[in-house]
Amino acid sequence: MTAGTPASAPAPVPRPSLFRRMAVVGVGLIGGSLGLAAKRAGLVERVVGVSRSRGNRETALRRGLVDETTDELGEAVHEADLVVLATPVAAIVGLLPEVARRLPPGALVTDVGSVKAPIAAAGDAALPDGRFVAGHPIAGKERSGPEVADPDLFVGAPCILTPTARSRPEAVERIAALWRGVGGGVLPLEAAWHDDLFASVSHLPHLVAFALMDAVLTMEQDGQRMRFAGGGLRDFTRVAGSDPAMWRDIFLMNRDMLLKSLAEYRGALGRLESAIREGRGESLAALLARARTAREESGHRL
Ligand code: NAP
Repeated sequence: MTAGTPASAPAPVPRPSLFRRMAVVGVGLIGGSLGLAAKRAGLVERVVGVSRSRGNRETALRRGLVDETTDELGEAVHEADLVVLATPVAAIVGLLPEVARRLPPGALVTDVGSVKAPIAAAGDAALPDGRFVAGHPIAGKERSGPEVADPDLFVGAPCILTPTARSRPEAVERIAALWRGVGGGVLPLEAAWHDDLFASVSHLPHLVAFALMDAVLTMEQDGQRMRFAGGGLRDFTRVAGSDPAMWRDIFLMNRDMLLKSLAEYRGALGRLESAIREGRGESLAALLARARTAREESGHRL
């Protein structure tokens, strides 16, 4: 170096990416968001999106969510070192054996489905050597498809991982690193406990929102009633704008836990109904106050 010339900063050493080739099966809201977020963070060298619909493949490419697309599962999987299943939950269970058959040695598989115990069990059956790690990012929107994918979707959001006794610790660590790399936190939970929790705090509220819209629709006459609907109905039923096929799968796949939560909800409705029918104002107020306190004490979450 010549004296007097400013020392040039050493060239940054490129960080090796976590995965070489990530195949995302189902390039919708969650799969598309993860594809773009992982590319942007340099976690993957290349992302291939698998989609059955030409329109979704074109949108995913146009928006840069993936680098290439195909409608052939085998074509995407056989060169991947990570496969992310981001379809509705029933399709994830169906895809696992197909993916396992085509998966190269050493490659990992994960998913993003909203129900975990049946998927974790199907993953163990398809890949008994522990290369499947089930996951569920707690982030989303009511709208679906690649058009609404957002690379910031997972920033600050927890991602739940539900490894089983078979899961390889190094596989769990690499999947956790992927979610941390796109800005999320990682929370390990037992799969059955996940399904019990989410039946009450997510699946039941969606079911109730769909039911409420259905009830109001049944009472509708000549479009008169909905003309008067305001913020209460709008806020309460926001999630009834979600994709019916996705929620059909979630409700059926988490049937037992959802029915348990639904029984609790019927009980709560029954207590309110009796107090109203019998004109017991004090009991009614006490029930409402208990619910309001619970909501207030839930802090920042609600
Ligand atoms: P989405 O936007 O509708 O995307 C799902 C994708 O899966 C679609 O692009 C569709 O692509 C593909 N697909 C649908 N049915 C399929 C089938 N039978 N076989 C193969 N591919 C199929 O849905 P999303 O919101 O991303 O949800 C994806 C997964 O994430 C679900 O398992 C859901 O439970 C979970 N999740 C959702 C949220 C949320 O708030 N939305 C949050 C966390 C987790 P093609 O039709 O083009 O093939």
